[in-house]
Amino acid sequence: MKKILVTGGSGFIGSHLCERLLAEGNEVVCVDNFFTGSKENILHLLNNPFFEVIRHDIIKSLLVEVDEIYNFACPASPVHYQYNAIKTIKTNVLGTINMLGLAKRLRAKFLQASTSEVYGDPKEHPQKETYWGHVNPIGIRSCYDEGKRVAETLTMDYHRQNKVNIKIIRIFNTYGPRMALNDGRVVSNFIVQALQNEDLTVYGDGSQTRSFCYVSDLVDGAIKMMNTSNDFIGPVNLGNPVEIPIIEFAERIIRLTGSRSKILFKELPQDDPVQRKPDISLAKEKLDWEPSVGLEQGLMKTIEYFDKKINFIKK
Ligand code: NAD
Ligand code: UDP
Repeated sequence: MKKILVTGGSGFIGSHLCERLLAEGNEVVCVDNFFTGSKENILHLLNNPFFEVIRHDIIKSLLVEVDEIYNFACPASPVHYQYNAIKTIKTNVLGTINMLGLAKRLRAKFLQASTSEVYGDPKEHPQKETYWGHVNPIGIRSCYDEGKRVAETLTMDYHRQNKVNIKIIRIFNTYGPRMALNDGRVVSNFIVQALQNEDLTVYGDGSQTRSFCYVSDLVDGAIKMMNTSNDFIGPVNLGNPVEIPIIEFAERIIRLTGSRSKILFKELPQDDPVQRKPDISLAKEKLDWEPSVGLEQGLMKTIEYFDKKINFIKK
């Protein structure tokens, strides 16, 4: 039995990861400061004797004994990561240093949850891991984009300098049950708006594209990456290459929910990437991984989740 630390374990992706690692027979330590995560996400795991939760902020050092570390702590929604930009940078820099230091001391394997945001507003399309990106260092998204870029640099430097056994995954837009209702990301916003017959807020003209990956596929990829041999460290893109303009995504949600909602155009936020689509050939080759859940299938599960949640709140 491996003992595995998941930072950000009560968040959206983190909670699914904890659940899967427990189901595979591991012992899991979830560390979270509950900024964007919630106890509700992990409530069903609390009775499992092999699951442990520590309320802790990774910008402070942590002493635990584990074999593997999945470093997922960091708010991921633009609204949340911009709420306290300096804290977002501290989480990515000080937090990542602390977790890498822990991995070094324990000789534990370390996996960094990086992001497609390291490519910024990409000029190469689709994005390959070899692309260095097009990132504004002083904009409102920079605390996250540049924070995650430094986190990748730190991860590589702990590997080169201290021989830490590392892995880097670059996650593209991921969605599914347990996204926070109010987190401002497009999937949760549109579904919550549609279910309440409110207008769907499309930023800009909606021609910008994203590629959406269902959470179970992402978790599969992350675990496969952790379990690869030491000679493959990444970075590797994990995402679903099916690309869709945001306006079409809005129309799709209206159709799937059977909503009476209309579309309301709002101002495009600064530095919003125009296009995003992962090239996943490296993941296919090295991990034998590709997404298996189609967009409509994943959206139906997500819609069902938000529907239950909204009805529960209304009661
Ligand atoms: P989330 O906001 O639901 O989860 C983040 C978790 O980290 C939350 O539980 C939060 O409370 C916790 N956290 C934040 N700062 C912390 C700190 N200083 N100390 C301890 N805990 C802290 O977001 P998510 O979508 O689940 O994203 C998880 C990870 O995956 C993040 O690192 C994010 O950057 C990365 N990622 C996600 C996506 C996506 O589309 N969901 C895309 C790219 C990268
Ligand atoms: N978006 C939108 N309406 C919303 C929320 C987001 O049109 O209510 C757009 C946003 O401008 C971006 C895309 O949807 O182009 C994805 O936004 P999200 O915040 O989910 O993640 P990002 O990929 O930008 O980090």
